[in-house]
Amino acid sequence: MKYTQLNNWQRNLFTYQFLIFLLFSAMSNTAIAQTAKPVLQYVVSMPNPASHYYHVEFNCSRWGQNTINVKMPKWMPGYYQIMNYAKSVENFSAQDNSKKSIPVKNLNENTWQVTVTKNRPFNISYDVKADRQFVANNYLDSSRGYIVPNGLFLYIDEHLNLPVSVKLIANKKWSKVATGLAPVAGKPNEFTAPDFDILYDCPILMGNLEELPSFKVKGIEHRFIGYKLGDFDRTQFMDNLKKVVEAAVAVIGDIPYRQYTFIGIGPGQGGIEHLNNTTVSFDGKGLHTADGMNRMMNFLAHEYFHHYNVKRIRPFELGPFDYDKENKTNLLWVSEGLSVYYEYLIVKRAGIISEQALFTNFESSINAFENNPGRLFQSLTQASYETWSDGPFGKQGGDAKKSISYYDKGPVVGLVLDFAIRQATQNKKSLDDVMQLLYWQYYKKLQRGFTDAEFQQACEMAAGISLSKEFEYVFTTKEFDYNTYLAYAGLKIDVQTDTEKGKKGFSIKRIEQPDELQSAILHSWLLR
Ligand SMILES: [Zn+2]
Repeated sequence: MKYTQLNNWQRNLFTYQFLIFLLFSAMSNTAIAQTAKPVLQYVVSMPNPASHYYHVEFNCSRWGQNTINVKMPKWMPGYYQIMNYAKSVENFSAQDNSKKSIPVKNLNENTWQVTVTKNRPFNISYDVKADRQFVANNYLDSSRGYIVPNGLFLYIDEHLNLPVSVKLIANKKWSKVATGLAPVAGKPNEFTAPDFDILYDCPILMGNLEELPSFKVKGIEHRFIGYKLGDFDRTQFMDNLKKVVEAAVAVIGDIPYRQYTFIGIGPGQGGIEHLNNTTVSFDGKGLHTADGMNRMMNFLAHEYFHHYNVKRIRPFELGPFDYDKENKTNLLWVSEGLSVYYEYLIVKRAGIISEQALFTNFESSINAFENNPGRLFQSLTQASYETWSDGPFGKQGGDAKKSISYYDKGPVVGLVLDFAIRQATQNKKSLDDVMQLLYWQYYKKLQRGFTDAEFQQACEMAAGISLSKEFEYVFTTKEFDYNTYLAYAGLKIDVQTDTEKGKKGFSIKRIEQPDELQSAILHSWLLR
C-alpha cells in the first residue's frame, strides 16, 4: 500500500483505532496485574544446627490484598493425630520490602494475621524448634536435618492451591538432600511444588546421606536414601526391596509416579507414606537375621503399598485435606487395616517369607484382636472414626479395654472379604480386583475418594453377591466365624487357651484333603 494523504474521516478513524489500542493495552495490563499469582518462596536456614532450631523466611510478592492470614497445619496426613505444630514456632515477625517491621496479630493458636500493603513484597520470619526424633516431627542437630513440611511451612488461609518454592541453606558439611519435591534445574537445594498439598506431601532429609544402588520396576526408578544406614548386606536388602515393589505393583498393575524414594531417617519407630516417597525410621539393626529382614520388608511393603491404598485409593474424607482440623473417616480400617493385609501378602508373593511365616503374621493379628476385650465394645468403623481421640493404637489408660486397633482387626476382615469373594466367584475374582476397581474408578476416572457405601459396592461388584453378612464384621462387634472363611482356601484355625495367662492362641493350618476349588483358591491367594 502506498502512503497517501488522509482525509478527515480517515484521520479520525486512525486516531480512534489508536485510542482503542491504548485502552485495550491498559485493560490487559490491569488484567495481568489482577490475575498474576502471588510469588511465594521459603528459605530455610540452620545457622546453628546443634541448637535444634530451623530459621524460616517466607518471601511473598504480588499479594493483592492489605492483609494476609497465614496458618500452620495442625496435623500431617498419614499420622491421624492433632500435632499442633504451631507450638514449635517462635520469634514470629514480618517486614516490608524496606525491612521495616509490619504489624502481626495472633488470631488463634495457629493463625497469624499480617497487615501488608497490597502488591508490595513482604517477608515473614520465624524459628521452629525441632528437637524430637519422630517420623511426624521436625528434627535438627549437627548431623542431620529432617523436615516435616506440615510443621515448618505456613500456608495462606484458603490459598492452598498456590505454587511455592523452597530454598535450603543447609549445613555446609552435609553432602545430600533427599526429598520427593521437584528440583529446580541448575540450582542445587532449590525445589518447587505446584501447590501446598504437594509441598506437605514431601518431607526433606539432609545430611551426609548414603544412597543404595537404585533399581527399576517397569522402567521406573526406585531409590533408597538414608542417614546412618548401619551394617547389613545392601545387595540382599535392595534385591528384597525390588521384589516387594514388584509384588505390590502386581496387585494394581499400574505405576502412577515418575520416581519413588524410600527415605531412611535414622533410629525410631514408624513411617509415613506419601505419593512418591516414604519416610521410614531406619537404622539397619537386625537385618542380618532372617526374622529382622522379614520384619523390615513387611514394614517397607506396608509404607510402599500406601502410595496406592490411602494416597490414591482413598476414603472420600481424606482429600482435599483440611489441615486445620481432624479429617474423620469411618474407613481408616481400609486404608490402614487392608495395608497390613497386603503387607503380609506382598512379602509372601515376593518370595521373601514362607507360607508358615505368612500364617504366623495373620495369627499375630488374630491373637492381638481376640485377646483384647475391646473387641466387644468397638467396631472397626468406630475405631477408624475415633482414632483422633483414642490414639493411633486405641484408647489407653483406664479405657484401654474398650477400644480396638484397626491394625489388628483390619487384616482379619481383609482375609474374610478376600476369601468370600474368591469363594463366590469360583476363584475368578479377589480383593485385588476390588483394589483395582477403586484405583481405576475413583482415583483415575472420578479423581475423588470413595464413600463407605461405595467401598462395600466395589466388594460386592467383585463378588457378584451381597456381602452384608461379611460387612457385619466391619460395622458391629460380631465375633468372627474363622473356620467358614478359612475353609474356602482349604485352611482351618485351632485355638488353644493358656489358662495361666488367660490368653488364647490361634494357629492356622492347611486341612488334610482339600478339594479342587480350595486348592486353587489357596494357590492363587499365596502366589497372587
Ligand atoms: Zn499405615
